[in-house]
Amino acid sequence: MDKLVSLAKRRGFVFQSSEVYGGLGSVWDYGPLGVALKRNIKDRWWNSLVQARDDIEGLDAAILMHPKVWEASGHVSGFTDPLVDCRTCKARFRADKLADARCPQKPSKAPGEHSTCDLTEPRQFNLMFKTFMGPMEESASVIYLRPETAQGIYVNYLNVLNSSRQAIPFGIAQIGKAFRNEITPGNFIFRTREFEQMEMQFFVKPGSDEEWFEQWRTIRMAWHLSLGLNPDKLRWHQHGAGELAHYAKAAYDIEYEFPFGWQEIEGIHNRTDFDLSRHQEASGKKLEYFEQATNSRFLPYVVETSAGADRVTLTVMADAYREETVEGETRVVMGFAPQVAPIKAAVLPLMKKDGQPELALELYHDLRAKIPTFYDDGGAIGRRYRRQDEVGTPWCITIDHETATQRSVTIRHRDTMTQDRVGLDQVKGWLLERLG
Ligand code: ATP
Repeated sequence: MDKLVSLAKRRGFVFQSSEVYGGLGSVWDYGPLGVALKRNIKDRWWNSLVQARDDIEGLDAAILMHPKVWEASGHVSGFTDPLVDCRTCKARFRADKLADARCPQKPSKAPGEHSTCDLTEPRQFNLMFKTFMGPMEESASVIYLRPETAQGIYVNYLNVLNSSRQAIPFGIAQIGKAFRNEITPGNFIFRTREFEQMEMQFFVKPGSDEEWFEQWRTIRMAWHLSLGLNPDKLRWHQHGAGELAHYAKAAYDIEYEFPFGWQEIEGIHNRTDFDLSRHQEASGKKLEYFEQATNSRFLPYVVETSAGADRVTLTVMADAYREETVEGETRVVMGFAPQVAPIKAAVLPLMKKDGQPELALELYHDLRAKIPTFYDDGGAIGRRYRRQDEVGTPWCITIDHETATQRSVTIRHRDTMTQDRVGLDQVKGWLLERLG
């Protein structure tokens, strides 16, 4: 992880927030390459659900919502984690994750295991961030930063249904920020207090929910594999009775094996009609669906797929990182699948003479209108290749002395380091074909 965090900073993937002021704990900013990588992941998610399917609509609901939403959803009373304090060192821990935590006095031990540890009994701590709406800082103006994007979908489900040509079964997808005042954030961008979720709620007829639940499990696992992740590092974790969230009838997590162990990257939940019935009751508005074929009304059941954009970005980065020894030297490679790589191709003139930079720049400008491309004419070619390996650029296009006379270039493959000779006017098509 230390190597990944350091590469992320050095090469402009992720920086610590407010670093010039010493940083803000567990808050991170995405640099030029990080924002491109995360956007590619979000685009793939959006395209696979909203664009490629005709039974899912998109939504972008506000972060701030009526406070009654969070009462009805159960978050005000139930969105809590058990918290314990250590009276000796004043550190705080999640009572249900003590085994994963380290005692600040003795990092080789978990909290409570060292002789001087003095832990309090667990007490419930609400994870929602509170703020005030308007000029008065009083209880009547308390408002929450949403802890999940899902509620914006539930309270809009009839709006979407009535304004689109959908009928049940159908889904609503949304990507947006969520906030949780986590007790123990950490592991880089794995657990932060501000993060981005990619959530899809699929509304189905009660009775068909279990079948849809299985379908969505299959679809979601296939999506993660499509990012090029190592299948051996992905697995399912089924929530046992004691683990289920307050809203869920069944839940499975997709887990990835990070350097710090197996952890959840996406949750698939059968939320039944829990949320819609709570909102119907609390708002006094009918949220039932009218089914013409049977001339009947019912509250749909909801199958939810909920992934963290930051967590999936970390997964893709951790999965891509590798070190190899080549001719006695260490080569660091981010082996991103071309579809998610932030830079797809680099254009490198071998020498800064004989018209090579001019030809290279012409190609670079032509490519970058369609394909994220990087231009670099400084330093030895070997070093330039290594720099591209380190940011995961799949192909390096080298302009050499034959380019002007033969109208051809070499294309070097990041993973095998082999080279192909390709006609100058075929480069764009060659790349587009491989990017699918
Ligand atoms: P955990 O048990 O790890 O706290 P959770 O079960 O509360 O997670 P969900 O409520 O199911 O998580 O959230 C769905 C997804 O949102 C998670 O799979 C994860 O990818 C992402 N997510 C949740 N909390 C965070 C966080 N604090 N930082 C980054 N991503 C998060």
